[in-house]
Amino acid sequence: MKRTFLTAGVLISLALIPITMYLVSPNYDSLNPVHRYVATSIVDKWTQYEETVPRFERATLDIDTLLGMLNFYEGAFARRIFRIRPDELGFMGKFYSLDKPTDLIKIDNVVLEKSPNHAETGVQYYPRHAFKDYREMMASMQTTLGRRLYIDSGYRSPGRQAYLFFYYLVKTSDFVLMENARWIAMPGFSEHGSPLYTAIDFISEEGINGFSEKQTAEDFEKLEEYKWLQQNAARFNFYLSYPRENIIGVAFEPWHWHWEGDTSIFSSANTPQIGPNP
Ligand SMILES: [Zn+2]
Repeated sequence: MKRTFLTAGVLISLALIPITMYLVSPNYDSLNPVHRYVATSIVDKWTQYEETVPRFERATLDIDTLLGMLNFYEGAFARRIFRIRPDELGFMGKFYSLDKPTDLIKIDNVVLEKSPNHAETGVQYYPRHAFKDYREMMASMQTTLGRRLYIDSGYRSPGRQAYLFFYYLVKTSDFVLMENARWIAMPGFSEHGSPLYTAIDFISEEGINGFSEKQTAEDFEKLEEYKWLQQNAARFNFYLSYPRENIIGVAFEPWHWHWEGDTSIFSSANTPQIGPNP
């Protein structure tokens, strides 16, 4: 009898270990094994779902849909992660918005014929007001340099950002939240989700973006196109967001530029416009 109680006691204690590990606060420097397991299963579920979403809708994933497909433990964990104040992870950027821009346009996929394996940009979205400046900037670059850049990533919804945050946490940041925050912002905190000052990640005609497999930021930094941007982008209202040693706490991202022009032209009278690339 005594032995039965003892065995039951040991079993209960063993069962409590994962529950306790689940309930403790996430360790910013290294998630514990239970949190790793939950984070991995979140990424697996979202990846499976993402593969069923048409490519042209992947940049605008809906965050409530993503959270809604998780079980109780996964959902509660994801919400806990997104409740962490980004400055606690060393990210000093500001909160932009969880709202969708009203003037998003869809930009067709581009096959980069000169890249080694014919990389593609995928369908992208970008606010019409800033797209005009981007288009003029590329026309000018083409004229003076004989080359241009493409949009590798434009507007990203909070849902897309949520997916990417967990994806990189599991796949490349080795479950270290502090490291992950240097590379990818929480939903609402990304310039890619800012309705007005939306960022673009550029990619060259040869498929160099500085962060794909086997590439480094220096690969993009060496491009003539990058030097051209440094000298000319401001004329078109585009600015480098994350230079080396920036105070925001984000890694050097020579490919990431945000639009920052005159927004006084906006009024609530603007009607939503979603349509083909003009
Ligand atoms: Zn970016």
